[in-house]
Amino acid sequence: MPTETSIPVSSPVVYSATSAVGICSQLLRIDSSNYGSAGGGDESKVAEYIMALLRSVGYEPTVLESAPGRANVLLRVPGTDPTLDGFLVHGHMDVVPAEADQWSVDPFCGDISDGYLWGRGATDMKDMVASTLSTLLRWKEHGTGPRRTMVFAFVADEEADGIFGSGWLVANHPEWFTGVVAAISEGGGVPVEARHVDGSVRRFYPVSAAERGIAHMTLRATGASGHGSRPDADNAVTHLIDALGRIAHHAWPIALIPASRAFLEGTTRALGIAADLSTDAGIEAALRDIGEDLRGDVRPSSRCSANPTVLRAGYKVNVIPGIAEAEIDVRTVPGTEDALLAQIDLLLGSRVTREFISNQPGISAPLDSVWFSAIAAAIVAHDDTAIVLPYCLGGGTDAKAFAKLGIVCYGFSPLGQDPDGRTGSGMHGINERVPVVALQIGAAILESFLTEV
Ligand SMILES: [Zn+2]
Repeated sequence: MPTETSIPVSSPVVYSATSAVGICSQLLRIDSSNYGSAGGGDESKVAEYIMALLRSVGYEPTVLESAPGRANVLLRVPGTDPTLDGFLVHGHMDVVPAEADQWSVDPFCGDISDGYLWGRGATDMKDMVASTLSTLLRWKEHGTGPRRTMVFAFVADEEADGIFGSGWLVANHPEWFTGVVAAISEGGGVPVEARHVDGSVRRFYPVSAAERGIAHMTLRATGASGHGSRPDADNAVTHLIDALGRIAHHAWPIALIPASRAFLEGTTRALGIAADLSTDAGIEAALRDIGEDLRGDVRPSSRCSANPTVLRAGYKVNVIPGIAEAEIDVRTVPGTEDALLAQIDLLLGSRVTREFISNQPGISAPLDSVWFSAIAAAIVAHDDTAIVLPYCLGGGTDAKAFAKLGIVCYGFSPLGQDPDGRTGSGMHGINERVPVVALQIGAAILESFLTEV
């Protein structure tokens, strides 16, 4: 392996090829775009890079291919205390595609400028993959390692439901996760600053301890096909849009699970906000008062949601089609799945049926656990002003697949605070970038956690 990277930098600083920044830069230069059902993905080049890096220091990783080009890299590192439960660190190697003409840099440049490392995947999640790899290299360098046995899974296909990655591993190679009881991956550990009512700044590190479920559905309305001039027709399109209108305008009630409640209690207390979380109005007020940056994922995860996203019907203006279809993206607060489906059926009415495209219940991990305590301790060790709080992720990650094995999953892909106030941005958007200093501190936080947990 080279000892230094050739990252084009605007500063004279040279980053070691084995540092988190150097590794992340090299990962960002490998295009691992995942087009989902529209064109698939290919993580093989990232997998080759990771395999070579790990082998160069004496690890013996394994590649498991779920399909041509769809590689997953697995590594088991024995702990010094065999009586401790096993632990999983998983990170996805794929990225969402980038529309290069909208970016101000090449999305696969991996360059550093203005204090940022730029490229698709810089915040989702080649940053954490790099921090994980740098920890593994430093363990070898210093002849150390984890206390508990750790499984490292660098997986394919997270950006398209994990069919070739986490889902495939759990279904086909569960033996890799024998003895594992807890896991971390993306979904938290990134600092968010907010102002106390006295004007001073507080720094929070939300850590995901739950995820809403995903219930993607196809809706289908049927009616009498016929001439478009016919009055009072039994019209499939009308049946469908009536149902969609009811769904789109339904006000889903507040449903706070313990992680969401702990987040609101912790943030309002730390910011000096008087909050009454015993009523829906009080919860709404708290969500408003903690500010936009902290609300982020917390507002969506405080209730279920259902958004119409796809419509299919008809082929000619004077022909009434016999079938009209739509797809809706439904997200469920953990534990509300049955009530949600009953409500959806009421809203659909008698003329529209539903069928799941994907149905993955929400997950939640204990808040009062050695895992959460160790996460908080690792963050505080590098930022003694940190306020570490659990929250519920509004979207979904590979954690849903690993949770099926009984593994409790936390979202902890740490970054540090950039002293000049830079923050990571562009996730799934344009000009994705991570502050260099944030990545360096994040790698140190992750190394502390993985070494000490
Ligand atoms: Zn991701």
